[in-house]
Amino acid sequence: MDIGLYEKAASLISESYDSVAFIWHGGEPLMMQTTFFKKAIDVQRRYFEGRTCDNVIRTNGTLLDSRFIRFCKSNRVSIGVSYEAGFERGLRPNLDVKFVDSMLNHVSKEGCSSFVSATIHRGNLNDMKEIYQRVRAMRLPLSFNPVINLGGALNYPELRLDADEYAQKLIEIYDVWLHDSSTYTPIVPFMHCISAIMNRSQSVFDCPHASCLMKWISIYPNGDVYPCGKACPKTFCMGNISRTEKIADLFESDGFRRILIGSIERRKKCQNCEVYKYCNGECSIDIMADGNIEDNDGFPCKVYKKTFKHIKKTLDDIMETKPSLTNYNRFVRDSVVGRLVDPRASDIICSK
Ligand code: SF4
Ligand code: SF4
Repeated sequence: MDIGLYEKAASLISESYDSVAFIWHGGEPLMMQTTFFKKAIDVQRRYFEGRTCDNVIRTNGTLLDSRFIRFCKSNRVSIGVSYEAGFERGLRPNLDVKFVDSMLNHVSKEGCSSFVSATIHRGNLNDMKEIYQRVRAMRLPLSFNPVINLGGALNYPELRLDADEYAQKLIEIYDVWLHDSSTYTPIVPFMHCISAIMNRSQSVFDCPHASCLMKWISIYPNGDVYPCGKACPKTFCMGNISRTEKIADLFESDGFRRILIGSIERRKKCQNCEVYKYCNGECSIDIMADGNIEDNDGFPCKVYKKTFKHIKKTLDDIMETKPSLTNYNRFVRDSVVGRLVDPRASDIICSK
């Protein structure tokens, strides 16, 4: 992206929002030189002085080096590495795993905020526990993301997952992680489910379950704007940032109206779902990739319902029987203790 175009976007965003999070992804964002990111941070200082302005870079890790890691640390930029801990076969067959491992260890030692994002498909489904163990050894946060039928994955139909099998694997890992009392690795989606159950509302960063629309935009290098960073169809294009006068105008576009109408129609069908108050109707792009944006009950629904219900049952059991928490991981311990200390706290927050 041209830095002038980025400055235009930052200027428009600063006029409409009190805080912002920029997620740099691609393609491979580190194809841009460090000088680009230095200029971007300078732009942010000019437009967001005194306000929250977060940055996350999502990379495959192959272009990381110690200078760039130091730059990220000193500018509080988080580094998210898309990486399956040695089980890349399928989507990333030629990745230099040893190099990415060494960079992740470096990131971790430097104390730079970072996480690992593992895409799960039929080729590495049985390696999920091992992926967790390897990321756990690095003490980094981990997210599991199922492959969806979009972008590069369209070239690998044999890697698509079966919903029941994937949900079952998630449950098996959750059970290991739940009782892993010394782990420092939070896992998404489990953390989001726990937060939703304990706080009775989702964090905005769990975008599929927090009504993402109007909270995120995706700006392509040429300035085209889409409602989401996942591969949207051209029909969802909301305009171009270079021809935009204010961000609100983008949400008046036909492209945004299309995703909005599709999401509303689907959520109408969700109203009687037993987990709707936690789920909020899932990710529109994931559902669209699964078949039709207006339909539920496909892959994302099946996975969410099965794993969420399992997680909820384990937490309900803890809340009811109040066992010693020493055999549970620190994330569950903290959530449960918070709820037991003040069981109404989250209700009060929700009602405001
Ligand atoms: S469409 Fe899906 S991935 Fe995109 S912002 Fe919304 S919930 Fe998140
Ligand atoms: S699980 Fe499926 S049906 Fe239930 S609320 Fe979520 S998207 Fe709707």
